[in-house]
Amino acid sequence: MAEKRDYYEVLGVSRNASEDELKKAYRKVAKKYHPDLNPGNKEAEEKFKEVNEAYGVLSDPEKRSKYDQFGHAGVDPNFGAGGGGFNGAGFDFGDIFSDIFGGGFGGFGGGSRRNGPRRGADVRQAVDISFEEAAFGCKKKINITKQEKCDTCGGSGAAPGTSAETCRRCNGTGQIQTQQRTMLGYMTNVSTCPECHGSGKIIKTPCRDCRGTGKVRKSKTIEIDIPAGIDDGQTMQLSGQGEAGERGGPNGDLLVTIRVRRHPLFRRQDNDVYITMPITIVQAALGATVKVPTLDGTVEYDIPEGTQPGTRFRLRGKGIPFLRGRGRGDQYVTVDVEIPKNLSMKQKELLREFDDDRFYKKKKSFMDKVKDLFN
Ligand SMILES: [Zn+2]
Ligand SMILES: [Zn+2]
Repeated sequence: MAEKRDYYEVLGVSRNASEDELKKAYRKVAKKYHPDLNPGNKEAEEKFKEVNEAYGVLSDPEKRSKYDQFGHAGVDPNFGAGGGGFNGAGFDFGDIFSDIFGGGFGGFGGGSRRNGPRRGADVRQAVDISFEEAAFGCKKKINITKQEKCDTCGGSGAAPGTSAETCRRCNGTGQIQTQQRTMLGYMTNVSTCPECHGSGKIIKTPCRDCRGTGKVRKSKTIEIDIPAGIDDGQTMQLSGQGEAGERGGPNGDLLVTIRVRRHPLFRRQDNDVYITMPITIVQAALGATVKVPTLDGTVEYDIPEGTQPGTRFRLRGKGIPFLRGRGRGDQYVTVDVEIPKNLSMKQKELLREFDDDRFYKKKKSFMDKVKDLFN
């Protein structure tokens, strides 16, 4: 338990729990681990501390909002980097759920059960979409393979027609208590029941389809709704679509990472689209109406007379829609003036005729500077 547990998990409430719900949850869990009710139980003492710390932060609206934004780092200056696994990945929810579901029977004597309900693992998947699909959103079917509740036995692990029996060794508590006499008096040792491995149940006739685990691997196609404006590398979280939880625990999440394929013409930067457009030397000099490709099809744009290479103009609102917002970014078009190659004799003749210093301001001022240099 080197990692700090999520405060909401410690109290067993959802992230949007009201103050009342928090208070109720706190009372329930705090009572359970209260040192007076668990004399000499180190584990309970630690849990009690943890519960108090969690409630201390979440019951204070300011601290709570900091915690929501930054996690433990937001409320605890000692919380270093590298905590890892904090946003649900690799996080062990088992303990808290076992605390909630496993205890509570028969008063406070039960303590926590090690192998109680456990949250299912997250399933990660990547999906490739086109530039346009990212811009305007799309529906995608993806195939995932994950652990699901076994239909044959309803997840109990016992063959149909039979049921799991209460473990006799631990009387269904999942724990064995042994007393030891020490110099300080009697010490009570609590360990996981070796017979049922903490589940409190013995399956005599395991279900054949899941071999008693209550879970089977299933391949499944699901359709996901990818929102307009999503960008390469972003991850969508579909809660409850991950692997099945164990022993009544909640399902994990499905995490879908979006990969956007490159577009032959468009480049994207945040919500703006960039494109480089070649025009001829004549179009640049005389001005022209050109057709510019955009995400909405081609639009006409009037290039003014004397447009220089590298000039950039903007098409407002022709960019990518904002994710979960209104409006769109812009499209920037950079003009690339193409110098003609493989000219005919006649074309070369015309160009030579045209090549007169009088037309070129830059060339003139440059040549003036050269003259100054040598005079
Ligand atoms: Zn089964
Ligand atoms: Zn047992």
